[in-house]
Amino acid sequence: KKEEAVQARVVYQGAPLITATEIKVNVSMPEVAERAAATNADGVGLLRAEHMILGTGVHPLKVLKDKGEEGLINVFADGIRVVADAFYPRTITYRTLDAPTDEFRGLEGGEDEPEEHNPMLGWRGIRRGLDQPEILRCELLAVKKLLNEGYKNIMVMIPLVSSVDEIKKVRKLADTVGLRLGKDVEFGVMVETPAAALIIEDIVETDIDFVSLGTNDLTQYTIAIDRNNEYVAKYYRENHPAVLKLIEHVIKTCKKKGVKTSICGQAGSRPAIVEKLVEWGITSISSNIDAIDTIRQTVARTEQRIILDIIRDSKNRSGL
Ligand code: PEP
Ligand code: MG
Repeated sequence: KKEEAVQARVVYQGAPLITATEIKVNVSMPEVAERAAATNADGVGLLRAEHMILGTGVHPLKVLKDKGEEGLINVFADGIRVVADAFYPRTITYRTLDAPTDEFRGLEGGEDEPEEHNPMLGWRGIRRGLDQPEILRCELLAVKKLLNEGYKNIMVMIPLVSSVDEIKKVRKLADTVGLRLGKDVEFGVMVETPAAALIIEDIVETDIDFVSLGTNDLTQYTIAIDRNNEYVAKYYRENHPAVLKLIEHVIKTCKKKGVKTSICGQAGSRPAIVEKLVEWGITSISSNIDAIDTIRQTVARTEQRIILDIIRDSKNRSGL
């Protein structure tokens, strides 16, 4: 299986359009892994854990109660393995559970999910992950299990970070299960709250390998538009100057500090925004499956323009 995947990669490398910025793909369900891997994407920039769980129809706490830790580790490991296998040796970025209460209440055993006025501002992301370490632990153990099976292509990131403390706590939890984040696997955080964008100078000091811009949430929190509220949907725009300012600040700060930057929100599938990201120096872009080719072309054109500008500039300075 792995030999076949390596073969596919060799053919992929023969593709004519090469870009310095990596173009990756977003994968929500393991079921689409094969289709996503058949594109010329350089890897998976976002593998969402919550869709994997929603697909099983059973709440993780119920799995834990009925089948124990091993049972829940297997749910996560089985889902991640499908994607890691399809892309091997291209890397996949597993994002730990970002469980919104309203979506998880519908699961078998999900009756105890709290009713919240606004779940988008509620109990989700890494703050929830740290409140329920029994689940996050199993995710980290699932990654460790796959490492032991020989999958060297898994990266880990955490959602909805808003403080340095959260990053330190996740690292500590991983240490307790024997997974060294940043050593055994590349480790990154999502920047999708204005708080994270504004303290990026402190976040990059936590020894992370990369950040990934979650522009779906960054947009809703920056301009105060609930992304699930149809009454304000017309005001939602990822290219709002305030959102772009935060993104530029994050990319440029990370570049200075040698931390890789990526984007996995919908803005990474929009050519006009992608041009700016490349100009600011983003390392990789993760798009929807259907946008991969367009985005690769946009990036190639933008990189070419940047290189041509540099050459023209140097000629001008030499008076040629
Ligand atoms: C985002 O917020 O941009 C993101 C990629 O995460 P999700 O859409 O899963 O919240
Ligand atoms: Mg998000």
